[in-house]
Parts: sequence; structure tokens; C-alpha cells
Amino acid sequence: MTANLLDYDLEGLAAFCERLGEKRFRSTQLFRWIHQKGAIAFDDMSDLAKSLREKLKTTADIVALPVISQTISSDGTIKWLFDVGAGNAIETVFIPEDDRGTLCISSQAGCAVACRFCSTGHQGFSRNLTTAEIIAQLWYAEHFLRKHLSRTERVISNVVMMGMGEPLQNYSSLVPALRVMLDDNAYGLSRRRVTVSTSGVVPMIDRLAQDCPVALAVSLHASNDALRNDLVPLNRKYPLAELLQACTRYLVAAPRDFITFEYCMLDGVNDSLQHAQEVVKLVRSQHAGSWCKFNLIPFNPFPLSGLTRSPPEAVSAFCKVLSDAGIVTTIRKTRGDDIDAACGQLAGDVRDRTDVQRRMIIRRSTEITNQVNSNTATAVREDAFND
Ligand code: SF4
Repeated sequence: MTANLLDYDLEGLAAFCERLGEKRFRSTQLFRWIHQKGAIAFDDMSDLAKSLREKLKTTADIVALPVISQTISSDGTIKWLFDVGAGNAIETVFIPEDDRGTLCISSQAGCAVACRFCSTGHQGFSRNLTTAEIIAQLWYAEHFLRKHLSRTERVISNVVMMGMGEPLQNYSSLVPALRVMLDDNAYGLSRRRVTVSTSGVVPMIDRLAQDCPVALAVSLHASNDALRNDLVPLNRKYPLAELLQACTRYLVAAPRDFITFEYCMLDGVNDSLQHAQEVVKLVRSQHAGSWCKFNLIPFNPFPLSGLTRSPPEAVSAFCKVLSDAGIVTTIRKTRGDDIDAACGQLAGDVRDRTDVQRRMIIRRSTEITNQVNSNTATAVREDAFND
């Protein structure tokens, strides 16, 4: 069986070269060919000794992900659907802006966290991606874009691990992939320009601080534990106070002096002025006002979510409460929503092996039943008063 060289960070590639009886420094040359030049054929790697190229042909390969489809939005956003085998597909999105090019990368086929407002969460979980499958998304997008735009220099300036999946639940594949992104012999991205977004896997936030501290974004979405338990079920394991304390510890190693809190605005669910005031109270109770930034995300509705987008005036009013309290708050511009590439819309195609979909349906039915029961109870109470 041959090794897929996209699976290795530089250290891993050096160990692979040693196993072939080669000097470690050969790995740097090889690494540059793969990631900086996008080479796929060993015969193209002209400064490698012929004997090494022959060895590589029988022991290794560079396997990209097959592209199922590519869709381009009217705003220039590009979405790729990649085949990861066994009926699973993942999505990757490139978002061009005047001063940067951001790639949003998936870390899992599906996601087991099952957040209520997230299309991926509704699909269920199939499996973790390998390091090669994570890095192949960047490898493909970078070299496709360079060719397409006739550019020789880097096109992707920022990476956000905000695609399908909870990256910190795929930690062993994530960290080598991050190291490849940061390596000057590969993509050379600064730690500030690589963001891991998490729903709050507290122990792994601490490990990331030790192993590979990059920028951190936390999917908060709620102002109290009861609401967050419902929207982000992982909160039952790692409640808000624990999560915010983990963020405080992370700051010591973080490349930026702030952590971003993502807050998806859901009409009538988490978007009232009372919720905003509760957020302010929460932030103050954890002394987080000086080190957090809020990013309010207009919800992108999808079938079966049972949720709707907050009206713009509710988002602005929420934003004002936070800003007036001294919390830096922005409202995210939606991008690529005409091609279902906006935040929370990535669904790919997942063979659900964890029954999340069934649990979601049960949860929705329970909510509807509770709603009906409570309406009936209210009606009964009102009838009693009328009597
Ligand atoms: S928001 Fe993130 S963690 Fe939650 S279900 Fe979606 S992909 Fe998973």
C-alpha cells in the first residue's frame, strides 16, 4: 500500500524519507513541490535525485479529492463538493474579498454535535476526515485558483475551519493539517490567519493552546445554559462558565488578543433585547469584555430546521446593546447564499451512521408536542377562568 503524502506535516514527511533511507532534508524539497508548486507527478520534481523519484513511485502518491461539483455565486464565492468515498461528500468554500481570500474547510463528513440551526448537524455524522482529506481541500483550492487567475503568488490568505464538522472532535487529523497550513515550506499562513471554530470542546481547547495555537472562534449562540443546551447540545457537557474559562486560558497562547464569539441570530429564539442584556451580563461575569468580539450571523434557513432569520432591525438592536456595553460587535455579511454556501448551509452528502437525523426528528416532534400540550394547557386554563 502506498502512502498519501498529503497526510504528512513536514516532520511526518521527514520520518517517511528516513524510512526510505533518504536524508531528512529531502523532505523539505518534496514538501515544497507538493504544497507550493502543486505537483502531483514525481517525475516533475526536477531537483530530486532520480533514485528518490523511483523509490517514491513505488511507495507513495499524492492523492487529491475528486471534485463532484463546483458552483460559483454571483458575489464570486466558490463552493466545491468533494467526494470522500462510501457515499459521503464534503463542502469547501472560497470567499474572495478586496483585501483577502478566505477558504472555509471541512473537518468531518457530517457532524455529531447536532446544533439545531446547522444544516450539517441535521445530516448526522459519518466519519472524521484524515489529515490528507483536510489539507487536500486547501491544496486543490489554492492551485485551482492560481491557475484560474493566472497568478503565481498565493491566493488564499486566510483559512477558517468552519465548514462541515467540529474540528476539535477530529483533533489528531486537525493538528498536522494546521501545521502544514502554517509551514513556510507549504502555505506559510500566519497563526492569526488560521482560525479554528469550535462549539466548545473544552479539553481540546486547552490542548490546542499547547500544540498549535491559532486564532479561535467559539460558536456561542445563546445567552444562558438552558437556551444553549437546546441550540448546541454539547453545552450539556461543557456549560458556558467552563467554556468561557477555557477561552480565558487559551488567550495566554493565542496569536490574537481576542477570541471571536459567533452568534447566529434566530428569530424569536435568541435575538431579543433581553437576550442581548443577558449576553452582556454573561461576558461581564467572566471578565471577557476586554478580550472577546461578537460576530452576529444572520441565520440561513434550510428545510426542516423550523427556524427563521431574525429581522435586520432585531439584529441591529441586539448589536447596539452589546456595542453600548463596550463589546466589539460586528454583523456578518452573508456570502454565497444563492449557492447554499453561507454559514450553516453546508450539508454535503453524508451517510448518517449515528442516527442524529432520527434524534433531530424526535427532538422536533417533542418540541411540537410540548408546544401543543402547553397551548392546550393554556386553553384549558383560560376555559377554567372563563367558566
Ligand atoms: S454548527 Fe458546527 S458543531 Fe454545530 S452541528 Fe454544525 S458543524 Fe457541527
